[in-house]
Amino acid sequence: MSFLAARFHQWHEGPVKAIAAGEDRIATGGADGAVRVMTLAGDHVGTSQLDCPVNDVDISITGRIAIAAKDGSVRVFDPAVRRTYEVGDHDHWVMAVAWSDDGRWIASGSEDGTIGLWEPEGSGVRRVVLGRPVNSIDWSGDLIAAASGDSKVYLTDGDGTLRDILEGAGQMLWSVRISPDGSQVAWTGRDRHLRIAPVAGGRPVVVPAHSQQVWGVSWHPDGDRVMTASADSTVALWSADGAPIERVSLDSWARGAEMRGETLFVATETGDVAALDDDHLSPRRPPPVVLPVAPETCTHWDPQVLETARRRCEECPATEELRLCVTCGHVGCCESQLAHGTKHWLASGHPNTIPVGDAPFHWRWCYADDMYVKR
Ligand SMILES: [Zn+2]
Ligand SMILES: [Zn+2]
Ligand SMILES: [Zn+2]
Repeated sequence: MSFLAARFHQWHEGPVKAIAAGEDRIATGGADGAVRVMTLAGDHVGTSQLDCPVNDVDISITGRIAIAAKDGSVRVFDPAVRRTYEVGDHDHWVMAVAWSDDGRWIASGSEDGTIGLWEPEGSGVRRVVLGRPVNSIDWSGDLIAAASGDSKVYLTDGDGTLRDILEGAGQMLWSVRISPDGSQVAWTGRDRHLRIAPVAGGRPVVVPAHSQQVWGVSWHPDGDRVMTASADSTVALWSADGAPIERVSLDSWARGAEMRGETLFVATETGDVAALDDDHLSPRRPPPVVLPVAPETCTHWDPQVLETARRRCEECPATEELRLCVTCGHVGCCESQLAHGTKHWLASGHPNTIPVGDAPFHWRWCYADDMYVKR
């Protein structure tokens, strides 16, 4: 299988952090602050340039783009009139946005532990306090699904009333999507599994999906396939019951994937949006992913550096949520940003990080064992 013939579109300066698909268009949001909209054929529709990184985008039924911005604002970009405007705000990064089916409301999820509900063309505002950071959000019919840093998925009604909590994931979640018919929820995160559960209740299907964390999950509009995008630089396709269909290798982290017809659109860490057609997606059953069993304890703790004066990521302008490598003193941003701490581990093999400037430290993260360890 070769992907050299894939089409690449809409180059971002740096990682593409989000991708959303509508009926006739794709929108992407980048760490460069750009929101780009293109047709499914790759023709440019519009661009909005923000002055801060974009964490998520979603497309409404009328073709407008909801934007989750790192400066705490929720914005709407309307490519038809080339206008971008603010519709809501949070006390911390906005990590995720989702339109209601009728395009009248936007749900936003934030690091501040709340879900915001906003009516861009009206006066409606509602704030739902979860008390947990929200990393991803989806809205279908009267169901909102919010995936949290606390490893759970919160299901609410369209007005934010809590309906159910989906548990089972071992680590923080990055992505959640409701199936097109509203009957199932798929979610992924740091623990590398894909989970699919009926909304009505019941045991989830749990699939070891990737060899690294899974940034994004999405459904084919037909409801018959699920796509997962991972830091192992692959995108995998699954049946709606979690059976493997296909695995596509890329040359960088895949931050998200969407499918329209038989074309797979992938947001990449290098700034490209790859469009892979069915010539490159011939059915081939991939080998199963075998994940290591999580250890009980960690033996890697060998700190050389426990404090640093640095208050900025060494690779990007991030100044919050920084991680210190206790082997060499490297300071990198967390995974909600550009994950430069994780990339340092991948490049150096230095296994442990602790939060910068958060003394006394209560935990360290061991990349080698993939676990938090209390100190
Ligand atoms: Zn360890
Ligand atoms: Zn290091
Ligand atoms: Zn960084």
